[in-house]
Amino acid sequence: MKKKDLKGVEFERFEDVVVKYGFEKYRAAQLFGWIHVKRAGGLDAVKNIPAPVKEALLQAGYDIIYPAMAEKTESRRDATVKFLFKAADSAAFEAVRIEDKGRETLCISSQSGCACACGFCATGKMGLKRNLETGEMIAQFYAAAGALGIKFDNLVFMGMGEPLLNWDNVSRAIDILSDRRGSNFSRSRITVSTCGITPVMKKIARMEPGFNLAVSVITADNEQRSKLMPVNVKYPLKGVVEAAAEFGRKAKGRLTFECVLFDGINDSLQHAEALAGLIRGINCRVNIIPYNSAAGTGYSRPDTLKALAFQKALKRRGVEAYIRKEKGADIKAACGQLAAGENNSQC
Ligand code: SAH
Repeated sequence: MKKKDLKGVEFERFEDVVVKYGFEKYRAAQLFGWIHVKRAGGLDAVKNIPAPVKEALLQAGYDIIYPAMAEKTESRRDATVKFLFKAADSAAFEAVRIEDKGRETLCISSQSGCACACGFCATGKMGLKRNLETGEMIAQFYAAAGALGIKFDNLVFMGMGEPLLNWDNVSRAIDILSDRRGSNFSRSRITVSTCGITPVMKKIARMEPGFNLAVSVITADNEQRSKLMPVNVKYPLKGVVEAAAEFGRKAKGRLTFECVLFDGINDSLQHAEALAGLIRGINCRVNIIPYNSAAGTGYSRPDTLKALAFQKALKRRGVEAYIRKEKGADIKAACGQLAAGENNSQC
């Protein structure tokens, strides 16, 4: 029988399970604390819960399961650390610690690999291995915090995979991590990044979920976007921007458009002007991400002056625009470089 990870069970369901096996309700709160506050590595590490409760849970196939931390790689240029995890079925996924001016951010994966196949992304080149379970996303957060001995200020779903194509598990992970009886991590410090899965974006906008949404817009030219991102054929730019605008209007969280810049492809002033026009009137900001070299993709990074000129052009049109600092590129931990050890030698 496949074991079920208690980390991925919401508090309410947790109570049901505990009560179902004949134990008092308050045991659920106790156990939840052991898992999400004390962060016990297995049911055997849980102390003040009666043995029959643990036994009943084990019998029903539950345990607290962590994937193996197969590698921990530290950047020599900055404070970035990349963690490679391997699940029991050998599915591999990575999480990245990014430090900036004392703020600690963890970038986590929602899938092992990715089905979206963006032509500039190393994860896209891997194809999809599988969706990550809720507990596997939470495990990245707890294991990285534990290994570094720090608390994270921000959590971003910007690692491997497309979070909106594993939405049930991702939204459950957010619910559990923000549960005040557990980690109590503020939803306003969580950002979910998507390549533009329109129907799920609309659903999220209507939920008013309290977390932030980042949308990888890349270019204002629909045809060019389809060439760069095959997902645009199924979910064209117009609908993506409409859904993002709905999020900007209805949701409490912040909306960001991400724009990866490729030398000579989408980095001209005309491209900046077109992008400003596309998002005019939407309550948002733009994050410019100069392309990071990713295995087998064949694009190149524009020089800093070009990225600055692009930013300036956006600002001139009233758009709040930032350039994302490159972090962890020496360990293949920057945006678009995560491939869980696959392909890296080709970079
Ligand atoms: N699937 C989601 C989240 C993962 S990618 C998404 O597409 O948004 C996180 C960010 O990295 C996205 O904005 C993506 O466009 C960007 N990215 C992908 N490959 C990149 C590369 N080679 N260089 C710089 N950014 C890249």
